[in-house]
Amino acid sequence: MSTPAKEPPNTPPVLRPDDLFHSFTKSPIPEIRRRAAFIRQHAYCPHPDHRPTRLPANPADAEPSTGNQPPAHVDFECPDCGIPVACSKQHWAEGYEAHLEICDTLREINEDDHDLRSGRFFPEFEYAGPQMEEAAVNLTNWDTFLYTRQFEAINDDRSMRQVTRLLTYPLTIGSILHELSPYSIRKGGRLTPEGLKSLGALRYTLHPPKSGGGIDIKGLRPEAPPVRIFILGARAESSLPRNVWVQLAHLFPRGKFHLVFIGPESMANRDDEFPLPPRTPSNPFGAVIEDRVWPSMKISTIVDYYHTLHKTGYFYPYDPYFDCFVMFHPGLGHPASSHEWTETVPLLLETKAPIIVTGYTQYDMERDIDWVRKTCRGEFDILMEPGENSFRSLRWDLNDLDPQDISCGNWGAWAFRGKRYALYPKYDQHPSK
Ligand SMILES: [Zn+2]
Ligand SMILES: [Zn+2]
Repeated sequence: MSTPAKEPPNTPPVLRPDDLFHSFTKSPIPEIRRRAAFIRQHAYCPHPDHRPTRLPANPADAEPSTGNQPPAHVDFECPDCGIPVACSKQHWAEGYEAHLEICDTLREINEDDHDLRSGRFFPEFEYAGPQMEEAAVNLTNWDTFLYTRQFEAINDDRSMRQVTRLLTYPLTIGSILHELSPYSIRKGGRLTPEGLKSLGALRYTLHPPKSGGGIDIKGLRPEAPPVRIFILGARAESSLPRNVWVQLAHLFPRGKFHLVFIGPESMANRDDEFPLPPRTPSNPFGAVIEDRVWPSMKISTIVDYYHTLHKTGYFYPYDPYFDCFVMFHPGLGHPASSHEWTETVPLLLETKAPIIVTGYTQYDMERDIDWVRKTCRGEFDILMEPGENSFRSLRWDLNDLDPQDISCGNWGAWAFRGKRYALYPKYDQHPSK
């Protein structure tokens, strides 16, 4: 094999699968070099000899520090993971024991990032087509899902990490809503009796009995409206390739979906689609509407705060058989973002529709739950107990403002809903009451 150095200078770099580990700072991929420069400019050395720093993204998390050296940005790159993690070789060596706990994961992140930009062909991004109705999907975990959905060409851990990083979004929703969900009311199954009621209502709509209808006029049957999934505070997930979201439709061959991405950042990374449609009487919020994503799936995107829309009554009425909210890593309890949710969450509770929430880490998830407990005390029921998400991203990532802070997409999941008292009186109330 010829060495890469002999290739013409204008050829984009192609990294071989056995050549994915590089220093971030000296990476052959310009995008990664820029990322390293950003980390060096913004992340601080965690060594306790430094005076405390206040990170812009995490003001309340700054650890009290006993040191009296001034704060210093990271400048020394660990030779084992290739990530700048300390201000100097000395501070890196003195903090080596703590760093060792995440060094292997950082190295994996390094290699996965280079892999994604290696220029190789990605057979794992060839997504499976519609599911044959006779063939049940097994939603126990990623392996059983990919196998029963006949995803081809996912034959190593790296491919698994790359593909689950995207598929975690539709699968986190699908695995909770589906009648073959891995979550149940059995002991340790995390679903509560209230959760079973709420999800049962949605499953009734998403798994309708075969109507016997056909495509000809004789076969026409009245059709239920689609289930609306409101994805609030949408960011990266709203720009995922559409065939990733269509995987959700494939899990419910007879269900229909309307995904509604809502949030001020919901058009991030979608520059080609600007300017936004004008606000008109029939489209009062200038939604970007994609109604041909898949025959059973429509996607709307609205650049606004949910609470603004809610108060206009635009989505009214809400129906527990047809509506569900999802918040991917909302940071409800994060000091930098919780103020953005204080108006929204009580409105969501009012709708009585289920609210599925994910977190980047256990800490992130628990901080959100604590915030809900504190701000909505007595007003909600837990539908699904918090815990690790069976369909989390298997790929880890680091926080550019603090490379020691590693997390993965949708690490944990839980669900709650506004308390309701009389929706199922016949079944709920004991005869003696
Ligand atoms: Zn230092
Ligand atoms: Zn390291």
